[in-house]
Amino acid sequence: RFLSLEGGEGTGKSTQAERLAAALKERGLEVLVTREPGGSDGAEAIRDLLMQGSVGRWSPHSEALLFAAARADHVEKRIRPALGIGTWVICDRYIDSTRAYQGAQGIDDASILALHGFGTKGLLPDRTFLLELPGETASARATGRDGPGADRFAARDSGFHRAVAARFEEIAAAEGDRVRRIDASGSPEQVTGRLVHALDDLLA
Ligand code: C5P
Repeated sequence: RFLSLEGGEGTGKSTQAERLAAALKERGLEVLVTREPGGSDGAEAIRDLLMQGSVGRWSPHSEALLFAAARADHVEKRIRPALGIGTWVICDRYIDSTRAYQGAQGIDDASILALHGFGTKGLLPDRTFLLELPGETASARATGRDGPGADRFAARDSGFHRAVAARFEEIAAAEGDRVRRIDASGSPEQVTGRLVHALDDLLA
């Protein structure tokens, strides 16, 4: 099975990816945790291109193409081979992040999905968790961290982060069963419990 975790910065995706993997391993499953942008050698090289330099280095169109290229490599080299041997894959960000972030910069959803179809033959997760927190809580958590993601976060205003959150909500509403909205407040244990609960049908 293929699972993705989505949401804005500071919602705890990376922590929950690891915690969910541990919960699935306890059930005897093989699990691969990976992340985007990156996750394979070629995709990590593209990640460096995306994260280095100022936020304005790439236009929204170039950025959408770079994310699509990184994802194509990641899917071909790591995700499909793992799924092929029955390993569960948990991906920290996937196509819905491109739809939300590049969508919030004006790239239309149909174009993003067309690139995804070309790059990955349209591979979608079996389930996507959208981790949601009130804006202030997320930005308090996100401003406390380091690294390139933190720089990109700080360079964008609260209006942009609200637009991204709104795009994620629209995607969840449009996708029906695939995307589940998860309350990311409370303790890490509580959030993992909500994720496992929202996987009940796939674990049965
Ligand atoms: O939270 P995470 O470390 O995964 O975020 C990495 C950075 O890449 C974030 O600042 C996010 O805004 C950005 N990003 C983006 N477009 C995407 C995916 C991530 O701008 N499609």
